[in-house]
Amino acid sequence: MKATLTVLGSGTSMGVPTIGCQCAVCKSSDPHDRRTRPSILIEYNGKAVLIDTTPDFREQAIREGMRQLDAVLYTHGHADHVLGLDDVRPLSYHRPNKIPLYARPEVGALLRNMFRYIFDANYKFGGLAQVELHTIDGPVELFGANFVPVKVMHGDAEIIGFRFGKAAYLTDFSSIPEESFAQLHDLDILFLDALRHTPHPTHSTVENSLKIVERVKPKQTFFTHICHDLPHEATNATLPPHVRLSYDGMKLEFEI
Ligand SMILES: [Zn+2]
Ligand SMILES: [Zn+2]
Ligand SMILES: [Zn+2]
Repeated sequence: MKATLTVLGSGTSMGVPTIGCQCAVCKSSDPHDRRTRPSILIEYNGKAVLIDTTPDFREQAIREGMRQLDAVLYTHGHADHVLGLDDVRPLSYHRPNKIPLYARPEVGALLRNMFRYIFDANYKFGGLAQVELHTIDGPVELFGANFVPVKVMHGDAEIIGFRFGKAAYLTDFSSIPEESFAQLHDLDILFLDALRHTPHPTHSTVENSLKIVERVKPKQTFFTHICHDLPHEATNATLPPHVRLSYDGMKLEFEI
């Protein structure tokens, strides 16, 4: 079936502009150079599925006019991917059920600990996010589409991205284990971490991700988790036409 993917945020953990930074990208007037923390929204079959709840979720949801949220999938527990969980509150009311959150066990434990006030729920004045944690250890079927975890290495940590239909979203990784490549065949859309040009212990670079593109051969690739080293327009001018930097608010149609 048809699905729409919206890039809610395309920036690295500190966002771009970065607080206090005076560099050309942080001071750029090009709206593509304004990058909130990394997350995507996938809409299909009348439902809305979110990957990660960033500290910018409130601003992202307002910008995109979000009126509905039916499930959240988590890639890992880093602050830039989870801290906006509380801001799903307005979307979690007036629903027949709680919004399900899907995370691997260690990420679920972290969320439970970080947001104890939500899950312990002994706060008697209302106003808590109506969410329910589900731990996953494999594919999840949501509203007729299959979301398959793809294991990636994020520095020393094994975390996940997701494959769904003809698209895959790998937001934070430094390398992709050999067995995960088998899940990345026949893709129309691939999102890859491409922090900057300079090597980083836990993130991929433009050069490393271009090598992955050559191997996987998706129809289109979009880089994400971008830091302030990469000006949007100038960087795109150096990339092959089927590879682009993603940007906040970018929308794509695909088959899920
Ligand atoms: Zn991150
Ligand atoms: Zn900067
Ligand atoms: Zn991370």
